[in-house]
Amino acid sequence: MNNEAIVAVLKENKMRPSFIRVKIYTLLVESRIHPTVDELYEQLSKEILTLSKTTVYNTLKLFIDKGIVRAINIEGNELRFEAERGFHGHFKCRVCGQIYDIPMNESAITNELDGFTVEDVQVLVSGICPECE
Ligand SMILES: [Zn+2]
Ligand SMILES: [Zn+2]
Repeated sequence: MNNEAIVAVLKENKMRPSFIRVKIYTLLVESRIHPTVDELYEQLSKEILTLSKTTVYNTLKLFIDKGIVRAINIEGNELRFEAERGFHGHFKCRVCGQIYDIPMNESAITNELDGFTVEDVQVLVSGICPECE
């Protein structure tokens, strides 16, 4: 996604494409590392010296409300963020800590839950990735 496409997504979702918003969304779209707030802040504050962690947090919250970013809970106590790119699961390598996306079909899970109201589905697989094997 180029800068114009990023700005277009923000505008489509009724957000003013401020410098910070464009930066944060670009980073989430381009990187597939599923960063935490701290990791995002660390990365961006090298470039934007006036950035505060609160700004990063509030921007993420806005993106989640607008449905363009998804929060994922991988370690139980730590939220990670990624640009919304449809339903998928995650594989976490216990050696390098890297998180990989797993393509998967949400209906395979929800179809088994007839009569239940599903509000959130998160699939987490853990183990050792091919790089570390
Ligand atoms: Zn690994
Ligand atoms: Zn993911």
